[in-house]
Amino acid sequence: MLRELFFNLCLLISLHYLLRFTFRSWPVPRRGWRHALRLSALAAAGLILMLFPAPIAPGVQVDLRAVPVAFATLQFGPLAGVLVALPIMLYRALLGGVGLYAALPSLLGVIVATTLMRRVVPAVGPLFWRHWPGVIVMFAFNGVPLLFLPDGPQLFTQVYPLLLVMNVLGALAAWGVLSERFHVLRLTSQWQSAALTDALTGLGNRRQFDLDLEAMGPGDALLLLDVDHFKRVNDTHGHHVGDEVLQEIARLLEREARGRDRAYRYGGEEFAVILRDVKGDGLNRVAERLRSAVERHALRATGGTVTVSVGGAGWAALPLRQLVQRADEALYAAKHGGRNQARVWGIWSPTQGGDPASRTVLRRPQP
Ligand code: GH3
Ligand code: MG
Ligand code: MG
Repeated sequence: MLRELFFNLCLLISLHYLLRFTFRSWPVPRRGWRHALRLSALAAAGLILMLFPAPIAPGVQVDLRAVPVAFATLQFGPLAGVLVALPIMLYRALLGGVGLYAALPSLLGVIVATTLMRRVVPAVGPLFWRHWPGVIVMFAFNGVPLLFLPDGPQLFTQVYPLLLVMNVLGALAAWGVLSERFHVLRLTSQWQSAALTDALTGLGNRRQFDLDLEAMGPGDALLLLDVDHFKRVNDTHGHHVGDEVLQEIARLLEREARGRDRAYRYGGEEFAVILRDVKGDGLNRVAERLRSAVERHALRATGGTVTVSVGGAGWAALPLRQLVQRADEALYAAKHGGRNQARVWGIWSPTQGGDPASRTVLRRPQP
C-alpha cells in the first residue's frame, strides 16, 4: 500500500505543477469560464489519482483524490468543493464495491471539515505549511467510515494512519507548488499597479496615461490641466501643503470624471483627463466644468482657492503625440489668456477641406 500511495503522492504533486498554469492573473477570478475550467481541472486531477489507487481489499481502494476536493473547498468555498467532488463520486459509484459506502461519506466529510477550517486557516498562500494542524483536521474524517465496513476495525487500523499522513503531506506539498505561483502573481500585480500609479495622488501616472492614450479612438478627447501659480502655493504655505493641494485636486478630478473617463497625474502640478465618447460641444463643457469645480472648491490645505488652466483637444485621426501637442497649445493659450480658464481646439471636419492644422480654432467655452 505504501508503494501505491507514494506513487499517488508523486502524481498529485506533478498534477499540481500542471494546475499552476490555470492560474494566470491575480486576484484569481472566481466566476466565468476560467473558473469553471479550473474546477474541471481539479476534478480531472482527482479522477486521474483514482486510476492509480492502492487496492486494500475487494471493492476497497484508497488514493489522494480528497486533496483537490479540499483545495477547491478551501480556496473557493463548499459549493466549488461539491462541484469538484461530484464527478469523482460518480466515478467511484460506477466502480462499485463495498468500499463505496466509506468513500462517499469520506469525501463529504472532507468538504465539511475544510469548510469549517476556512474560518481559521487562510487561503493557500506563502507559508501555508505553517497551518499543518488545520490540514490534519481537513482530512481527519477521511477513512473513518471504513470502520463500518465488514472487517472495519482491521481495515481502519491498516489504512487510516498512512492515508492521513499521505493526504496531509500531499496537500502541503501540492499546495506549496500553487502557493509559490500565487506569490509571484500577487507580487507582479502589486508592482504592476504601483508602476502605473502616482504615489502622491493615487491617480494613474504618466506611464498609465501613455498606455491609455494609445487606446484612444474616434469620439475620445484629451484635457490637460495645470495648476495656476502653484509655485506661490509652495512658497507661501510650504511644500507639504502643495502636496495636499495636489491630492485634493486629484480627488476632485476623480469625482468629476464620469463613466469611462479617467484622470491622471501628467507631471508635477499637471493633470490629464481622457474623455470617452464626447459628443457635440461636450469637450468644451467638461473642460469648463472641471475648471469651475476646482475654482469653487475651497481647498482644505490652503483654506483658499486654487485655480487651474485647462487645455483640450478632440481625437481627430492625428498621431496621438500631436493630440497631446494640441491640448498643450490650448493649455498655454489659457495661461497666456490670463489663467483660470479653459480652451479647446475646435474639431476639424474633413468636409471643410484644407489642412486640419490651419482649420482648427481655439475657442473659449461658452459661459
Ligand atoms: P503657472 O500658472 O504658469 O503654471 O505657474 P506655476 O507656478 O504653477 O508653474 P511653474 O512651472 O513655475 O511651477 C510649478 C511648481 O510646481 C514648481 C514645483 O516645485 C511645483 N511642484 C511640482 N511637483 C510638485 C509636487 O509633487 N509637490 C509640490 N508641493 N510641488 C510640486
Ligand atoms: Mg506646469
Ligand atoms: Mg502651474
